[in-house]
Amino acid sequence: MSETWQLSARDLASSIAAGELSAESVVARQIERIRAVEGDVGAFLTVDDSAVERAREVDLARTRSETLGPLAGVPVAIKDNMSWRGRPLSCGSKLLEGYTAAYSATAVERLEDAGAIIVGSTNMDEFAMGSSCENSALQETRNPWDLNRVPGGSSGGSAAAVAAQQVPLAYGSDTGGSIRQPAAFCGCVGLKPTYGRISRYGLVAFASSLDQIGPMTRTVADAAVGLQVMAGHDARDSTSATAPTADYLAGLEHGIEGLRVGTLNEIDLSSLPTDVREDWLRSLDVLEGLGAEIVEVSVPSVRAAIAIYYVLANSEASANLARFDGVRYGARVDSGTLASLYTESRSRGFGAEVKRRIMLGTYALSSGYYDAYYGRAEGVARTLRRELRTAFQDVDVIATPTSPSSAFGLGERTDNPLEMYLSDIFTTPANLAGLPGLALPSGLDDEGMPLSLQLLGPAFSEAQLLRVGHAFETAADFPAPPEPRRL
Ligand code: GLN
Repeated sequence: MSETWQLSARDLASSIAAGELSAESVVARQIERIRAVEGDVGAFLTVDDSAVERAREVDLARTRSETLGPLAGVPVAIKDNMSWRGRPLSCGSKLLEGYTAAYSATAVERLEDAGAIIVGSTNMDEFAMGSSCENSALQETRNPWDLNRVPGGSSGGSAAAVAAQQVPLAYGSDTGGSIRQPAAFCGCVGLKPTYGRISRYGLVAFASSLDQIGPMTRTVADAAVGLQVMAGHDARDSTSATAPTADYLAGLEHGIEGLRVGTLNEIDLSSLPTDVREDWLRSLDVLEGLGAEIVEVSVPSVRAAIAIYYVLANSEASANLARFDGVRYGARVDSGTLASLYTESRSRGFGAEVKRRIMLGTYALSSGYYDAYYGRAEGVARTLRRELRTAFQDVDVIATPTSPSSAFGLGERTDNPLEMYLSDIFTTPANLAGLPGLALPSGLDDEGMPLSLQLLGPAFSEAQLLRVGHAFETAADFPAPPEPRRL
C-alpha cells in the first residue's frame, strides 16, 4: 500500500471520513515526510506544531458523528502571504520579520471550516515578485525534480511542497503567473481562478487588480476540491465576485467531445525550444484524440502582455507597498528622525527586486509620465480583454504552453531581470483579462524535467477548465513525482 503522504487530498479525506485512517496519524506522518525531505527542498518557512493536535479534533468530531468538512483531516500548506491569525507572516521579506498576522484571510478561514489541517507556510519570492523563488530574503527552495534547479515562482514553495509530496494540496497566489509557472516547473496542477472568485481579504496585496489565490495539487480533482472550499462571495472584499459558484467536481468525468480548443496564431512556435514545441504539439494531439477540435484564433495584443503587465503590476505594487514604512508592520530601523526611520526601514527591509519594482511603478505613475505609461498600458489591457472576449465566441478554451521553458538552474537568471520577466509570457494575459487559467503537467523534456499545458477560459468557466484538465490528465499519463533528486 502507498504511504499516506503519497495520497491525494480527496483519497485522504474519504479514508478519514470512513474511519479507515485517523486524521492524527495522517497529519503526523505528513509532518515526518515534510521533515524528511525539507533539508533538500526547503519549501516551508514555518511548520506549525499544533497541526497534530488540531487533527485529533477531527478524529473526535468523527467519533461524535459530527458532519465533517470536505477536507477534514487533510494536511494543507499556504503561501506565506496569506494571513493566518497568530502566525508569522513574512511574504518572504526581511521587512516583515517578527510580524504575526492579526486576523485570518477569508480563504484561510474557509479552509479551516472545510476541516483542512494547515501544516505550515511556504516560501515565496519577496512580496510575490519573481519567477524562481530566488527573490525570497529568507530561504532557498529547490525543485524536487532536480535540486539544482529553481521551483519557479513566486509560489515556488507551494509547488515544491506538492511535488515533494510534503502536502497533497497547497495554495499560491497568482498576479502574473505565480501559481501556474511554478506548478509547470514542478510537474503540478495549478489553477488561477477568475479574478474575484476567491476572496483576497487577508492576502497581502501585490497588484490588487490582478492578484488571485488558487490551489496547487498533483491531480485535477484535488484542484477542484481546493477551489470548491474557498470560492464564493465575501462581503469583506469589495472586488469579490457575486456570480454563483458551481459544483467543480460534478462534471469532471464528462469528457470533452466536441470541445473547441483555440490556439493563438501570435505564438511563434519556432521560438520555442524543440522539446517544448514537441510536447506542445503532442498535447494538442491528446486533446484532439479526446474529441476536441483545434481552431486557430487571433489575439494580437498578447504580444504586449508582458510589457503591459510590468507597468500595471509595478504601478499598483508601488502604491500597495507604501504601507510598509517601518511604523505599522514588522522590522523598524529607528534612526533619529521620522523621515530617516522610513528610509532606513525600507532600504534595509526590502530586497533589490522589490526596490526595482517600486521605482519602476512610481515612475510610471508620476505626473508627466502617467499618461505615457500607466494610462497607455491600461488602454492596451482593455484591448486585450476585448480581443479575448471575441476569441471566446469561437472557442471554449484557449491552449498555450504554460512556460516557454522547463525549470532553469539556480542562479541562472538572477543577474538578468528581463530574462526572468519573460518566463511570464504565456501566463500574464489571464491576469490582465481577469480570466481563469489552469496549468497541467503534459510531459517531460529531454532532461526529464516537467513541461506544462495551459488552458484559459472565459470568466467563471472553472468547472469547464477542470473538466478538460481531468480528461487531459487521464490521457496524458504524466508520471508520479520522483523522490527529490539531482539530475
Ligand atoms: N513572475 C511574475 C512577477 O514577477 C508574476 C508574479 C506573481 O504572479 N505574483 O511579477
